[in-house]
Amino acid sequence: MPTTLPAPVLTIRNPATGAVVGEVPVTPIDVIPAVVARARIAQAGWAARTLDERAAMLLGAKGALAAAAERMGTLASQEMGKPIKEALGEAKYAASGLEEMVREAVEALREEVLEDANVTTRLVFDPFGVAAAITPWNFPILMPVQNVLPALVAGNAVIFKPSEVSPLCGQAWAECLQSVLPEDVLQVIHGDGKQGAALVGAGVDLVVFTGSRATGMAIMREAAGHLTRLILELGGKDPLLVLEDADLEAAATFAVRNSFRNAGQVCVSTERIFVHESVADRFTQLVVEGATSMKQGDSADESTQIGPMSSARQKSIVMRQLQEAIAAGARCLAGECDGGPASAGNFVRPTVLVDVTPQMSIMRDETFGPVAPIVRVNSDAQAVAMANDTPYGLGAAVFGAPDHAARVAERLTAGMVGINKGCGGADGSPWVGSRHSGHGFHGGKYGTRQFAQVRTISRSR
Ligand code: ADP
Repeated sequence: MPTTLPAPVLTIRNPATGAVVGEVPVTPIDVIPAVVARARIAQAGWAARTLDERAAMLLGAKGALAAAAERMGTLASQEMGKPIKEALGEAKYAASGLEEMVREAVEALREEVLEDANVTTRLVFDPFGVAAAITPWNFPILMPVQNVLPALVAGNAVIFKPSEVSPLCGQAWAECLQSVLPEDVLQVIHGDGKQGAALVGAGVDLVVFTGSRATGMAIMREAAGHLTRLILELGGKDPLLVLEDADLEAAATFAVRNSFRNAGQVCVSTERIFVHESVADRFTQLVVEGATSMKQGDSADESTQIGPMSSARQKSIVMRQLQEAIAAGARCLAGECDGGPASAGNFVRPTVLVDVTPQMSIMRDETFGPVAPIVRVNSDAQAVAMANDTPYGLGAAVFGAPDHAARVAERLTAGMVGINKGCGGADGSPWVGSRHSGHGFHGGKYGTRQFAQVRTISRSR
């Protein structure tokens, strides 16, 4: 007698407690071409609406997003371990920031006219067609927001694959948009890299991806056969430079927050610190004090400042780098491997390392964990050379007397540099990685335009 196999599901467990959070059905690979075909049909109708009509329709989701924020934030915290306060903040922003994000996209994509003495040219921004949006788990609501919304405003139909680590909050967010969009303009598929690769290979016109450098390279290889358009936001190994005239309290406060926030699982986390030797002892002491005073625990606890790593796999990457560094001569001043008992489960204590060398993998490869490796330098030139000695180029920060720090900032090769602050720019700035941290980018006028095909239509004057 034939037996029917149960449909495969992804079971999601809370990384802090191991409790089951929920499950989603995995999309069978052989169904993906039909998903793309449905998107293609829906896209024609979606693109036939005007830019303003599409924007108005998307803005209709604000109420549903606000109503779902509590549930989305709780799911995000339970799925990937983000402290509940931060997860709720991220979820609420999906509603409160909607108008601003849609308005920014509309302004970027509105037709522009260029004229010279002889010719008038219209720059028009057309949709590519069907876009795949493949997102990670570290900002499981914000990443879909940034990858999907501009694609939709531009008139693309979108097939969204949330990370297999955080599919429930991604699904909940998408359902709010689906409640106001025509059928199949936004579809969701679930699964891991196999579904992601199948989607990229299924004839989509644009892939918008945020994730690791290795996966970005795999996507680029897969996309090469069709010259599929790509927007890839990849990893980072962000440096923090602390100059001899820095406000050390401010620099250390930033170092602690930016190294350990979200358990270090932020693409622009500080992953390498270069501090002038004349202030290194005091700065290091302040960072150690900050690290040891952070409250780590269950993400559901409102007072928790640092939760667990999102998964056992993520913890094992961090522990391997830490143990390798310590075996090669690094010293741990606080945190994991400081001689105290190892943290249980998926937790890694905020960790401060000194005596690290540029050869160690903790200084070369993305860590994505709560580790602050500190290197003493004897000049700006040495700090700059070491900071730029990486294939990555996402964010960077320089702390020092403002004019001095500004001069040093000019010499850094990262896509986004902050002076006495984090790397985020003013409203309208792109979110941009240089070199191996990005291929294409999003945000602001220039980033948003990458979700559309620019065409010129010219006539003689
Ligand atoms: P992480 O290691 O942080 O999970 P990844 O870059 O592996 O980061 O994953 C980010 C997203 O990319 C996830 O949604 C994942 O399922 C997807 N993914 C992984 N491998 C591939 C691939 N080869 N092609 C397309 N998507 C992939």
